Amino acid sequence: MSPFPTSTVLGYPRIGPRRELKRALESYWEGRSSRAELERVGAEIRARTWRRLAELGLAGLPSNTFSLYDQVLDTAVLLGAVPARYREAEDPYFAMARGTEGLAPLRMTKWFDTNYHYLVPEIGPETEFELDPAKPLGEVREARALGFETRPVVLGPVTFLLLAGALERLDEVLGLYEELLSVLAAEGVEWVQLDEPALVRDRTAEELAAVATAYERLGAAGSRPALFVASYFGDLGESLPVLAGTPVEAIGVDLVRGGVPEADLTGKTVVAGVVSGRDVWRTQPERALAALGAVRASHVVVSTSCSLLHVPYDVAAEDSLDPALKARLAFAEQKVAEVVALSQAAFRGTPPAAPSVALPGPVPAEERSPYALRAAAQAGHLRLPPLPITTIGSFPQTGELRAARAALTAGTLSREDYERRVEAEIERVIRVQERLGLDVLVHGEPERNDMVQYFAEHLDGFAVTRHGWVQSYGSRCTRPPILHGDVSRPAPITVRWSTYAQSLTGKPVKGMLTGPVTIVAWSFVRDDLPLREVVFQVADAVRDEVRDLEAAGISIIQVDEPALRELLPLRRSAQADYLEWAVAAYRRATSGAGDRTQIHTHLCYSDADEILAAIDGLDADVTTIESARSGARILGAVEAFGRGLGPGVYDIHSPRVPGAGEVEELLRRTLRVLPVERVWVNPDCGLKTRTYEQVEASMANVVAATRRLRAEL
Ligand code: GLN
Ligand code: ZN
Repeated sequence: MSPFPTSTVLGYPRIGPRRELKRALESYWEGRSSRAELERVGAEIRARTWRRLAELGLAGLPSNTFSLYDQVLDTAVLLGAVPARYREAEDPYFAMARGTEGLAPLRMTKWFDTNYHYLVPEIGPETEFELDPAKPLGEVREARALGFETRPVVLGPVTFLLLAGALERLDEVLGLYEELLSVLAAEGVEWVQLDEPALVRDRTAEELAAVATAYERLGAAGSRPALFVASYFGDLGESLPVLAGTPVEAIGVDLVRGGVPEADLTGKTVVAGVVSGRDVWRTQPERALAALGAVRASHVVVSTSCSLLHVPYDVAAEDSLDPALKARLAFAEQKVAEVVALSQAAFRGTPPAAPSVALPGPVPAEERSPYALRAAAQAGHLRLPPLPITTIGSFPQTGELRAARAALTAGTLSREDYERRVEAEIERVIRVQERLGLDVLVHGEPERNDMVQYFAEHLDGFAVTRHGWVQSYGSRCTRPPILHGDVSRPAPITVRWSTYAQSLTGKPVKGMLTGPVTIVAWSFVRDDLPLREVVFQVADAVRDEVRDLEAAGISIIQVDEPALRELLPLRRSAQADYLEWAVAAYRRATSGAGDRTQIHTHLCYSDADEILAAIDGLDADVTTIESARSGARILGAVEAFGRGLGPGVYDIHSPRVPGAGEVEELLRRTLRVLPVERVWVNPDCGLKTRTYEQVEASMANVVAATRRLRAEL
């Protein structure tokens, strides 16, 4: 067995430095190019990546980190877990990923606590596993043809089965992994990387036993490459001694999020993730070297804390960033260079200990009056009908609006002209809502490209990039803002749009803000302050905006917090603390409002169950939630909130227009559980991705259904 190369990365971005893969995918999906053309673009991206990693001096190159859509889907294909209904499709892979006319895609969900989404493998009693090693084998050969020996990366059997909820199939699946190992060994592959991020979560004794079984058995395989089991996104905890007790040759640990293992790992190679794959900051060499020096193992390899999939390609492409900020940043290319430099510097002299920072405690949340007092003040002031009808904030983002924004950025449209177009759109949105007969209106958010980026562009302490795209799922990418300094709000942000909208109508117009946790969750965040402190700074900026909206005569303000669950720590022991400060930050942002001002919040995922107590803790006067899909379950749970509730009456994710009858039925169901005084009527989420035609037809039916019910009161 040859020793593990001295430096490596666990994975690399794959969308292409200029989103070449995105364009190739969309062109293929729209029938404008062939599958062969798509494959050619993929091969180019892979070749460029290997060449670049080698040029930068990286010793251990990974392969099979590329994917046309998702690495979990690739693993399902590798193991033959393709549900029968997709096999007849023209392109079964993309049918699973995106669905076809008559076929829904596989379910998609978040990859641990990242903003990446994977497809959930579907494994049932009918699933017959069968190995199809074409992809990992193909990439090994492709790299070899270019002169590179690589280490194929494959999702490990335990994580794969845990994600699929099918750990009971371990025995069969291990047979396939043995087969894969033997195929790779026959190909001359020396090391293989099996990713097991699920091991950084709390695991039951049974699951830990499965880890032992899996790696005992794969370790005992007759013909196999050396095994490198990679963990990331946190500490291995109890899984570490289990893995260390098996014959695997190398173990990967995340030393950015997790601590240096206390155990003596002599006999093993430790692949030490000291360069963060989750942020965009340069690594502090002293800190990294100290961590490397503290690992007790036979061989220590310098690596990234996880795949670099979660960061953009290259800081050098950002020509409009402040040079002082740029000097602090590291994207994938820079991180690879850091890994190489650290592996060269490792163990040369004892590094100084990192300076310790004193942590200020959380800012106390100021409290609002008890709900009963607020509710009475609001009822007198707002005078809304029973079952008030509203929407979640955004109205359709038209092509003209997007074009106008692009022209403004390009300098071909003046600011005044742009603002006039936004005002015209606001007026249109107000008139549509009046015509429909809604009770609480919105301005429609036409000025926003995105609910986080828009605020980042208007707050001090943030920067936005031009090419800093990160894959979210398939061809979808986001460009997270960079929160690099102390956050403050130099001037009101939304007040002019909300007051303009309010000036057009006698109905109340709801102000629309993004909450502090969501702004932070969807940004790259400075790492020199505890996350909690950063969130509180953002909360203070939102608080300023809430107060200014109120002072400008806006009497209902919605502060969205759809990412509340996203930052939930992976280990249960850390969750209560997080939820406590996250809720405190929200209350800090909203508690500057007087009793007469009604605070709304909106959350839009169906798996809110885990954090219901925290949502209740936000203490919003009205909570609007997704419910068209999660239905009665969520209603029962939120009943206890004791404040206003708007369980969505239809699913906005589909173009389908709901009938008045079905909305009425849903409302009746809601009224069986909740007292009528507390029920609001609204769609599941914002209407941004729909057309005006769909919105008007759907909301007309919502109004008709609500009126029928009001007539019975
Ligand atoms: N107010 C936002 C909108 O309507 C909320 C979006 C969201 O929940 N993600 O678009
Ligand atoms: Zn939503």
